[in-house]
Amino acid sequence: MRILLKAVFLTITLASSSFGGEFKQARWLMGTVAEIDLFADSETKADAAFEAAFAEMAKIDSLMSNWKADSEISIVNREGHIRPVKVSPELMETLEASLKYSRLSRGAFDVTVGPLVRLWGFMGGEKRVPALDEIVRALRSVGYEKVLLDSGSLKVQLAGVGVYVDLGGIAKGYALDRATLTLKRLGIQRALLDLGGNIYALETRPDGKPWEVGVRNPRDESRILTVLRLKNQAVATSGDYEKYFTINGKRYSHIIDPRTGKPAVGCVSATVVAPTAVESDALSTAVFVMGPKKGFALLKTIPGVAGIAVSDKMRVSKCNLE
Ligand code: ADP
Ligand code: MG
Repeated sequence: MRILLKAVFLTITLASSSFGGEFKQARWLMGTVAEIDLFADSETKADAAFEAAFAEMAKIDSLMSNWKADSEISIVNREGHIRPVKVSPELMETLEASLKYSRLSRGAFDVTVGPLVRLWGFMGGEKRVPALDEIVRALRSVGYEKVLLDSGSLKVQLAGVGVYVDLGGIAKGYALDRATLTLKRLGIQRALLDLGGNIYALETRPDGKPWEVGVRNPRDESRILTVLRLKNQAVATSGDYEKYFTINGKRYSHIIDPRTGKPAVGCVSATVVAPTAVESDALSTAVFVMGPKKGFALLKTIPGVAGIAVSDKMRVSKCNLE
């Protein structure tokens, strides 16, 4: 069983036998650990699948990373307020999905949260509590309606100087879906992919048993809240326990409520199961911002999704799960 625990370590090649069977490999990608566990009839086939799937993740990162000055999203952020910027179909698809989840969550999920993420020091720089007037100023550049897409011509425009798109809440999910597609194209039928705690389970294990993923207790990583059994489903967790800072005993997490301009409060962690990884990634961030009650009301309107949330009072609640 895999623990949904945004991992800490290592670029390694794990087990490999020279015959068919189960193969695993891990790499450092998108600022986190990417691990693929797959079944293949030969080591050669498995190796080709690993190479292609990890290459696909790296490609998505090279399009969507804010840490890379030459990524497509960096070019959009620099020039999109001056002229329409031509982008790849992959970036267009991710932006379209971003806007869809913004609308569904009424702005709780919003990739234009970038200026706020930066202001609070989560994009490099000093982590600090900004003054209210700084927050108010940054909020003027926030709002998903400021991202203008022309899907036909693959062009993106930003309505205003200072608008800054941050795909940190959705790009890993998209990369996971793309890597899954890559595996399928190479004839891999069963796999578990994990990109920094965003997981996709392709089919079942060979014995027909679903893939098992443990959701950890957000305040005690040695304890498991629940075990999910997944088949052709994704799961993602947004939590306050990995990227945060504390001042005077108060915890400030990297997920910002775009409506207040401040780190979201109300959830300690939000886990969402969905048919695709883009969906679970975006919705876990949305539920984290909305809190368990409103977040689950949203999940109930979307087919095929389920969730587990831990409130700031450490109350565990579930939606569409027993
Ligand atoms: P992680 O990437 O840490 O696994 P998430 O998927 O929840 O967790 O994404 C958090 C990231 O999303 C932040 O680091 C930031 O880049 C971005 N982000 C922060 N707040 C929001 C928000 N309200 N909507 C969309 N993206 C956000
Ligand atoms: Mg997310």
